[in-house]
Amino acid sequence: MRTSQYLLATQKEVPSDAEVISHQLMLRAGMVRKVAAGMYNWLPTGLRVLNKVAHIVRDEMNKAGAIEINMPVVQPADLWQESGRWEEYGPELLRIKDRHDRDFVLGPTHEEVVTALVSNEVNSYKQLPLNLYQIQTKFRDEVRPRFGIMRGREFIMKDAYSFHLSNECLDSTYQLMHKAYCNIFERIGLEYRPVIADSGSIGGAVSHEFHVLAESGEDDIAFSNQSDYAANVELAEAITLETSPEATQDLQSVDTGSASTIQEVCELLSIEPAKTVKTLLVKASDEVATDLVALIVRGDHSLNDIKASKHAWVASPLEFANADEVVTATGASIGCLGPVQARVPLIVDASAAACADFVCGANQNNTHYTGANWQRDVGEFEIADIREVVAGDPSPCGKGNLEIRKGIEVGHIFQLGDKYSKAMNCGVLTETGKHEVLQMGCYGIGVTRIVAAAIEQNHDKFGIIWPDAIAPFKVVIIPMNMHKSHRVKEVAESLYSALSDANIEVLFDDRKERPGVMFADMELIGVPYSIVVGERNLDNQQVEIKNRRSNEKTVIAIDEVVDTIK
Ligand code: ATP
Ligand code: MG
Ligand code: MG
Ligand code: MG
Repeated sequence: MRTSQYLLATQKEVPSDAEVISHQLMLRAGMVRKVAAGMYNWLPTGLRVLNKVAHIVRDEMNKAGAIEINMPVVQPADLWQESGRWEEYGPELLRIKDRHDRDFVLGPTHEEVVTALVSNEVNSYKQLPLNLYQIQTKFRDEVRPRFGIMRGREFIMKDAYSFHLSNECLDSTYQLMHKAYCNIFERIGLEYRPVIADSGSIGGAVSHEFHVLAESGEDDIAFSNQSDYAANVELAEAITLETSPEATQDLQSVDTGSASTIQEVCELLSIEPAKTVKTLLVKASDEVATDLVALIVRGDHSLNDIKASKHAWVASPLEFANADEVVTATGASIGCLGPVQARVPLIVDASAAACADFVCGANQNNTHYTGANWQRDVGEFEIADIREVVAGDPSPCGKGNLEIRKGIEVGHIFQLGDKYSKAMNCGVLTETGKHEVLQMGCYGIGVTRIVAAAIEQNHDKFGIIWPDAIAPFKVVIIPMNMHKSHRVKEVAESLYSALSDANIEVLFDDRKERPGVMFADMELIGVPYSIVVGERNLDNQQVEIKNRRSNEKTVIAIDEVVDTIK
């Protein structure tokens, strides 16, 4: 590509309305231009990077056995009414009408459309499992679109949806997708962490987010300093409990220890099998073991209700087998678990809860408590403090303490279970001829957001420093005063042909600009290598190669250039 025939669109000035560095640099490097709030044109340089990200995502999805399809951006409201999300989904869902006054939405996600598709196309267990994906435009009417394409209203997502007969099969595809996501972020060259996450309004039980670590991140991520444990702090408010040793003794009699799955615990405690299970970080007083983990078993309540109740949860269903007590608020259940030796109930202050109506499970024999008497009945316990998890808190995994860093959510995977398949009657005939509803997983990656996240992690005061895997060009040829020197022009042209012939993505800066302007533009755009062609080195049949990341300059023979860059 020759800059003279290209739309370089670089800008010197730092745009005043761009808060984060990636937004500033994407505007200055001529990658995107705002059309309206949260909507952007992708200029050639931006699109080249975006396409590289999409290529890596597509390649890893294909390798993991997912199959590409394409679904429409505009979706009929009936599907959303069928799933129940027509009512559930807030104002982020942009609703539109066609000329016949029929309702439609601009797709913020595609669970409904894909479930309807599979429901029609797949009839037999023999066609399963199936994992379908697309890389496609989404629209979410974000209340606060910001940071450029990082939180756009229109953005590109890779969304995959898997369909299974059993939870075991769902889990194995989920693990495959988890691995594929790790491959994607490693290939792109980003520092990232998979973290335990909340599945929010989308429903489901098991969920992980993938975060690129960066100061401008909107999420706080809590990590154990001694294990792989990591969770989104959004879910990890800590509750500090004061308990008496006697009270702890009382609870030794509760026996849920025989249960090994959430399902079994729910049965033992006679509670509705939960749709979502989260652990809660509990700090107990000294008399009690400090590494308690509590669980919130969420019923039909939406996450927002529970959040409003100020209760806190870190997700990890791993240790539910040791649950000691389950307390349910209307529609919501709260469980507590710890090591068998140190059982302590989770105590909830009714006044802090959104609902005043509690059912106490397990050892309390499903006693129904309302408002104030609830507190009296379990009066031996009091909440001393409810607060956010802070750095230094013990990790809920029992190993080490928590560190907290900022993260940008670039991916999110969920085990949805049958939320959509049940509502939309998506099932198949099994081997025995029985009709069975499918289990689903869904797996999203913010393709456009990754571009911004990569810049947040890879820049300096001169501009972007692309990881090689997603650089818009691998190398740029910068000729010194080509318009005055025939020799410089000749060598630059021949290098351009040789590099192009070797299938290396090369930009040839053939503008009539001063060298300083060219250097500044190419550093801003972040091309990994520059080849500087100048009179002085040509005397020895040499050119200078500069590495954008290390700033290292080496002088090499002209005929070694292609092999060096390759
Ligand atoms: P966020 O918490 O940032 O609002 P989300 O949890 O609502 O994201 P998901 O529904 O999990 O997003 O969608 C999958 C992925 O799509 C996210 O992990 C993120 O990378 C990307 N994404 C979501 N919203 C946006 C947006 N407004 N602009 C760009 N990318 C987005
Ligand atoms: Mg969102
Ligand atoms: Mg999120
Ligand atoms: Mg998410």
